Amino acid sequence: MSLVNLLDLDQPGLAKFFVELGEKPFRAKQVMRWIHHFGMIDFEQMTDIAKPLREKLATLAEVRLPEVKVEQISDDGTRKWLIAADASNGIESVFIPEDERGTLCISSQVGCALECTFCSTGRQGFNRNLSVAEIIGQLWLANHALRQDPYYSQLSSSDRIISNVVMMGMGEPLANFDNVVTALNIMLDDSAYGLSRRRVTVSTSGLVPAMDRLRDECPVALAVSLHAPNDALRNEIVPINRKYPLKELMAACQRYLEKAPRDFVTFEYVMLDGVNDKPEHARQLLSLVKDVPCKFNLIPFNPFPDSGYKTSSRDNISRFRDILMQEEYVVTTRKTRGDDIDAACGQLAGQVQDKTRRVEKRLSIPIQVSQEIDQSANQTTMDDLVN
Ligand code: SAH
Ligand code: SF4
Repeated sequence: MSLVNLLDLDQPGLAKFFVELGEKPFRAKQVMRWIHHFGMIDFEQMTDIAKPLREKLATLAEVRLPEVKVEQISDDGTRKWLIAADASNGIESVFIPEDERGTLCISSQVGCALECTFCSTGRQGFNRNLSVAEIIGQLWLANHALRQDPYYSQLSSSDRIISNVVMMGMGEPLANFDNVVTALNIMLDDSAYGLSRRRVTVSTSGLVPAMDRLRDECPVALAVSLHAPNDALRNEIVPINRKYPLKELMAACQRYLEKAPRDFVTFEYVMLDGVNDKPEHARQLLSLVKDVPCKFNLIPFNPFPDSGYKTSSRDNISRFRDILMQEEYVVTTRKTRGDDIDAACGQLAGQVQDKTRRVEKRLSIPIQVSQEIDQSANQTTMDDLVN
């Protein structure tokens, strides 16, 4: 019989596990605290649990963390971990320290099936969803690594090094809905990490039905990857737009805000030179979002080999930002962090054994036709994912 990995369970899941063992449900809270709050994974050390139960647990369960393959530390303090998903696949997480907060950027899938044209993860294809243990394991491992660092050693165990989590690593979190929500529950649980809903952000390219489910099942802060102000352009660069066009996406944002912990949506907008960064795009954007309380996060495009895109110039980014700011919007321009270790947005590559055969198709088909064939391939993969 295989052992149950307790890292896959949130508190209700653990309570069910204990009840099925004939134990009291409150054991769930104790075990949650040991594993996630204290970072203790050895049952023998869980001293407020009676010895017979500890022994029983050791025969039925385990706390199996994913394995860290490589840790890199940037000159600016940003850290990146390559974490094994299995022998041939890996994912990445990134910690970004700032004065007032520490943010961990977490992955949700090995690769991504949604094929946004400017995204390195999207280019790599898709292998599989991460399990709950692999998602929450990224937070456990990062916490553990940072606590070992002498730089943070003066902090007490109640101080948080990681105050914010953003689901902005590899993958589309809402395409791995159930596992992501269970992992979010653990992040928010006071017995585990106790993060505020306002400080946990899910970023989505716009899977409308899943946005509605998130609103009902686990509302946290929401970021939406907009990147284009009209359907024609967004269909090209964020192909999921063909299934959920902008009108539907804007309506979903409005519905989300009815229950969201923050009273705005953050629209992410990658600045691609000559593609989506002209003043007319900024003006179209203003009219698109007029009914959705929002902030904007402009992300200078982070290049990767053979992307085919260039980063917008500083002047074009400022001009774009100013048009939005004239209408009183809050606009931030994302600083590139961890440049020297390729840890910036959209650069997370991990290691992906593509199951969609996308990379193969792109390489073997002449450019003119590849567009057409690729699009039909997209459709199949995306349909599989969102239905
Ligand atoms: N799949 C989710 C979350 C992961 S991507 C989503 O798309 O929202 C996190 C953010 O990085 C998204 O806004 C994404 O569009 C952006 N991004 C992807 N590739 C990028 C690149 N090369 N440069 C800058 N930002 C990029
Ligand atoms: Fe997937 Fe997000 Fe990259 Fe698009 S931007 S391919 S949704 S990870």
